[in-house]
Parts: sequence; structure tokens; C-alpha cells
Amino acid sequence: QVVTRFAPSPTGYLHIGGARTALFNWLYARGRGGKFLLRIEDTDRARSTPEATAAILKGMEWLGLDHDGEAVSQAAGAERHAEVAHELLAKGAAYKCFSTQDEIEAFREAARAEGRSTLFQSPWRDADPASHPDAPYVVRLKTPRDGETVIQDQVQGDVRIRNDQLDDMILLRSDGTPVYMLAVVVDDHDMGVTHVIRGDDHLNNAARQMGIYTAMDWPTPTYAHIPLIHGPDGKKLSKRHGALGVEEYQAMGYPAAGMRNYLARLGWSHGDDEFFTDAQAKEWFDLNGIGKSPARLDFKKLENICGQHIAVSEDAALLQEIKGYLAAAGKDALSAAQEHGLLTALYCLKERARTFPDLLEKAHFILTSTPVEPDEKAAKSLDTVSRGILGSLTPHLQNASWTRDDLEAVLNRFAEDQGTKFGKLAAPMRAALAGRAATPSVFDMMLVLGREETLARLTQAAA
Ligand code: GLU
Repeated sequence: QVVTRFAPSPTGYLHIGGARTALFNWLYARGRGGKFLLRIEDTDRARSTPEATAAILKGMEWLGLDHDGEAVSQAAGAERHAEVAHELLAKGAAYKCFSTQDEIEAFREAARAEGRSTLFQSPWRDADPASHPDAPYVVRLKTPRDGETVIQDQVQGDVRIRNDQLDDMILLRSDGTPVYMLAVVVDDHDMGVTHVIRGDDHLNNAARQMGIYTAMDWPTPTYAHIPLIHGPDGKKLSKRHGALGVEEYQAMGYPAAGMRNYLARLGWSHGDDEFFTDAQAKEWFDLNGIGKSPARLDFKKLENICGQHIAVSEDAALLQEIKGYLAAAGKDALSAAQEHGLLTALYCLKERARTFPDLLEKAHFILTSTPVEPDEKAAKSLDTVSRGILGSLTPHLQNASWTRDDLEAVLNRFAEDQGTKFGKLAAPMRAALAGRAATPSVFDMMLVLGREETLARLTQAAA
């Protein structure tokens, strides 16, 4: 069974790159009937905060990346991590090193002077335990001195590192606490992780981590180190490129399904497919579709994809998401009447909206209360002539049957009688019905508002 995990360090918000890593792991597991686990790597006590953990959980929840089981705290496993180091000691795969900082420095200086590798080689590696002093020590892994470590990476290909370029890494510090690198391996092993999909900034760690797997006779997981995300200018992603935390994307009004789709495409591809559903992504996602070069953030593409997801969303679910957006953006919640109105209008709003603010702007006609206050642009369409035309239109609508066909027929006939085109009627009608120049179609607004409200607004504008 496939088991993947997302292992964020809780030192800040859920970064867009982290969200993509989580998504890849989620897709890989979910598409294979596997498990997707969450481990909070909180061993750095000074930098880890409960607020950051909460932000990560919240971001994942918004993105719909549900994990199996409880989130695991890495720090809580410290005893188990140390236990493995002692196991390695007992089997001779690790050793106690009593070298002091000064001695290590002296070793390096001498090596530098003689032009040798400055990687520390501990004199305690092969020392007889009987000769051990009663002094503080660290526990180091006995890394093979010859041969090479090969990471068979599913994205990067075979990455070879000569073992003589790896030092005997510290597993336990002199206070007996385990190091991060050991914790990762023990946790991944104990959690049954089969596939490690993470940023390629961890590629170097993989070589060291493999040393621990080998020493413990544990099978190594399949590795996939994915290239980082770059900004639109191809440079390393940073604050100047805009939003970094996923909660900012929610507050900007991108739908979660669109974010998942876009983030999946960011560094991974399936033929020419740009728009796809979760079901398709789960079915298609594979490690060999991941590109080797950094993907660039492209807000235009993001909006495009988001627009397509809004268009196919089911109305009730869309309304819930819009409410989540308003809360995340710190905007006023909808009243019950507004919610009801919006729900009836969604069918004509979702076709062309790329984001929720975009959709809500088009929804102004149903969210606003009467009397409608036209904005400056709309007010220009309500000159004396146009108001006169609106005034003479209203009696024609009194007895219309209020179906789309009938309304179209009535308006076209009216325009003809006035010796004008329907297009000329549309601008003042938009202004009257919505108080805006950019709105859904006049017919959709009339259908959503109903006869009474439509006539009231037209009459008010004509006055
Ligand atoms: N905690 C690491 C990070 O946030 C991830 C480690 C891993 O995936 O192995 O970058």
C-alpha cells in the first residue's frame, strides 16, 4: 500500500510551495487507494509555534487536502528517535565520539593546511569502548568510507554521492537529544511511508537519510524531489511576487478546486490538459509527469483555471465557498436575504467570473437594496431621453408572462417601436436594475429579480 506524507515545519503560514508538496502527496496517495499522513516537524522548539501549526491545518483544510489519522508531532517522538540511535550503537553501526569542538577545529585546520578534505574524521570511530573517557559525547553514524550512495530519484534520476564526501553525521547531541535528520528517518519508517515527495532543497538530506536506513536495514522509501516554484520572472519565489501563504489566496477569492488544479499543473503535467477535476487529477497524477525545472507562478493562468472551476461548480457548494471567502477576506457576511438572492442568481454569475470578488461585483444587482444607487458610469446611461424610454417601457412589461422568450419578444418589439435597437435599451436598463454598467444580461436580471422588483427599479430610474 502506498503511504505518503506531508511534513511541514510549523515556523510560519502554509507556503504556496508547501501546499503544492502536500497536494502532490495527497494526489499520489488518493489515486492509489493509499494513505496520506501529516507530520508536524516541530523539533525546532525555538522556531515552532502552535499558531503556525494551526495555520497549516487551516490551509490544508481550505484546500481540501484531508489527511489520514491524527497529525503526528515529531517532537513527541524524541525518545523513540534516541532509542534508534542506541540500537545503532549496540550493533556497531554508530559510535560515541568524545572529540571536543576545539579538537574538531584543530583537525580541520590541519587538514586545510595539508590540502586534505576537511570533513571531520573522528579518532573514536574505531576506538575500543574500554578506552572511552567519562566525558560528554555525541553519537555518530559510521558512514562507509568508500563506495557511493545512489538516490534513485523519480524526478531527478540517479543522484550519486561519493561516500567519502559524507561525514559521520551526528545522530544524538551531547545532551542526548536526537537530531532532525534521524527523526525524519525514524518517523518515516515507523509511519510506514513508502514514497517521499518533497522539495528538492532536501535532496542532499536524502543521501544522509539513506545512510540511516541502510544502517538499520530498513527499506528506503521511493524518493521524488520536486523543483521549487519560481515567481513569474523566473526568480526564486519571494514576497515581492505577491502572495506566499495559501490563506492569502483564499482571501483573494480563488476557489479551492481551482487552486488544486492550478497547483497540480505547477510542475506536473498530463499531456496538454490544463483544466481537470479532482477525480481526473487523482487518476492521472504520477511521478514521471513531474518536470525537472522550476515551475513559474502565473496568475493569469490561475485565474483562468479558477474561472472554469467556478463555472462548473454546483450552486449550493459555491455559495458556501463564497461565504468562506468573505470571512477569510474580513468582509461583511451576507444577510439571509442576500444569500437567498445570490443562490438564485448564481446560474448567471458563475459563467464568466474568475474569482469571487469578480462574481460578487456582477452580483451587485441582487445584493444591493432598493432604491438602487447608480454608480458614476451607470448614471451616465440615465439621461433624460433614456429615462423617458424606461418610463414608456414599463407598461409593456406589466402583462408579460416573465419567461425569457416572452421578455425577449417584448423588449425587441418595444425597441422596434421606438425605432432603436435592443442594444440601446440595454445600458439604461442595466443602470436601472443594477446601478452598474457591467452586469449579467438584462434578461437574467429581470428573471432573477422578478416582475415586481424589476418594475419598481425601472419606475424609480425613470422618475
Ligand atoms: N520539515 C521539512 C520542511 O518543512 C520537510 C522534511 C521532509 O519532507 O522530509 O521543509
